[in-house]
Amino acid sequence: MSSEGKFSWDFLKTVADSLDSYRVRALIDAKEDIINAGVYDETQYYNILFKMFNMEQSKFTLFHFLNSNQNLNLTSIKKFSEKNSIELRKALSLLELLKNEKRVIIEEIYEKIKRNENSPDKLIFKDLSIKIDGYNVSNIQSIYEPVIGNGSIVDTNNCSGCGLCHGICPMDCIKINNGFGEIDDKKCIRCGLCYFICPRSYLPVKVLNMSLENTSEIKEYSEIGYYIEVYSARTKIKEIASICQDGGISSTCLYYLFEQGKIDYALGAKMSDDPWRPEPLLIKSKEDIISTAGTKYVNNPNLSLLNDLNENSKSIAVVGVPCQMQALLKSKIYNIGIPSLNNIEYRIGIFCMESFSYQSLLEICKTLNVDVKNVKKMDINKGKFFVYTKNGDELNVPIKDISHLAREDCEVCYDLTSESADISIGSIGSPSGWNTLVIRTEKGKQLYNELLSNKLIESKPISEVKPGLTLLKRIANSKKNNCRNHIYKKKENNKRIPIY
Ligand code: SF4
Ligand code: SF4
Ligand code: SF4
Repeated sequence: MSSEGKFSWDFLKTVADSLDSYRVRALIDAKEDIINAGVYDETQYYNILFKMFNMEQSKFTLFHFLNSNQNLNLTSIKKFSEKNSIELRKALSLLELLKNEKRVIIEEIYEKIKRNENSPDKLIFKDLSIKIDGYNVSNIQSIYEPVIGNGSIVDTNNCSGCGLCHGICPMDCIKINNGFGEIDDKKCIRCGLCYFICPRSYLPVKVLNMSLENTSEIKEYSEIGYYIEVYSARTKIKEIASICQDGGISSTCLYYLFEQGKIDYALGAKMSDDPWRPEPLLIKSKEDIISTAGTKYVNNPNLSLLNDLNENSKSIAVVGVPCQMQALLKSKIYNIGIPSLNNIEYRIGIFCMESFSYQSLLEICKTLNVDVKNVKKMDINKGKFFVYTKNGDELNVPIKDISHLAREDCEVCYDLTSESADISIGSIGSPSGWNTLVIRTEKGKQLYNELLSNKLIESKPISEVKPGLTLLKRIANSKKNNCRNHIYKKKENNKRIPIY
């Protein structure tokens, strides 16, 4: 914004709106309580407050711009972005925020492209239609609800248990226990930061993809999101190869990053004292990596550990499932100055079809007539849930027979392949003993290149292996279709849904 604009009527109006913002007010009013809670020190508190203030200011600047223009569409947002020297995708993220606050109504306009009779018609994004939905500063809705409480994200079974609300709450009043949130209502200051960063409140999926691609163009992305390259790879590190579930690539990434001093910490999961119940693990060295090996099918809120990592100048890698990668990328786009989030250098995503509560996992074991203490390995493959026992038995059950046991929030999850990660890793698409690696960002590509040049992995283009990318895309697409159907059903029954 130009210096003469700083004192314009519009600017002053924007500042007044921002100061009247419920979120900014809540942070200002509770300053002493926040410092006493001990999650953030005073400098960090001010940094968060000013970041929030700046964002609210930009949001209201956009709102006033839209309010004073007619026939609003994508071109209007482009004009706003040029006039205020804000990247288009940043302006779009503010527009999503206004939409979620019900200040604007946005409709996406698509063109149907006819394809041949064997392929369904394709929808191509064309434009946005934007309408202002009334505005009254003195009547700001208390939209900044906590994620827990009556009718909230947790209460309506939309919470994926990613753990980020616990990881950033300035009052340390949220806990994720057994996969679900609990709040200490007496401590909560209603700042709504948890709601703001939650991947299940609203998620600007197009903006996430644009940010990964570093583009200002709105496009349609593939069934597995934006990617640069896909490979099939496996580790060459013997200790990892001997204990890993498939190709051991996620452990090898962490091994390399610790060895090179590129990270100080990594967040992952290890097994707790209860057999096959994972718990978050703060990984501090390459020696700790061994305890993280193996796929876990029970929810693990590893992002909750972030509230212990607010020291400045530390580098963190996070290994997590798609909903966790979404939460991290969303927070990066809206950057609200949380120190631990700013310290995240690598997002290493894992493929995830669905997850189970611990009770459901015990139920699956019961169905297969196996004691959970006797389970050596679990796997989902070829439409079946496999359990391998310590006695050498291989048992399985079709996924369709146990899908009712999956967490309800996983039904509304559209993402199989961790589309918001720097690099995504899973087994689908590659032969047994190998991983499929989806490289999405320049940082992810550099990490892959360094693993190769240091001879830590062997790798082939995915086109050279079977079943390959076609299968991965097919399964990813079927997860998206299931998600659409579940969202449609929830909408029909007037149930709360995440806004994608
Ligand atoms: S999805 Fe994540 S951020 Fe949202 S309520 Fe659940 S644990 Fe918290
Ligand atoms: S629970 Fe949410 S609204 Fe309450 S203090 Fe924590 S972050 Fe703020
Ligand atoms: S299916 Fe989606 S919501 Fe469920 S654990 Fe996996 S990534 Fe998270």
